[in-house]
Amino acid sequence: MAYHDPYTPERCYFECYQCGYRSTASKLPGGCPECDGNVHNIAVARE
Ligand SMILES: [Zn+2]
Repeated sequence: MAYHDPYTPERCYFECYQCGYRSTASKLPGGCPECDGNVHNIAVARE
């Protein structure tokens, strides 16, 4: 696992459904800071 993987499970990585805004945060925000749309956590382990 020497390569950089943006989907690091230790970090909360979220993406907005509406505008595609992505950011990291200590916890999932209530909504997108850009458009106030729904965000989802994409920091999930990939097989
Ligand atoms: Zn958004």
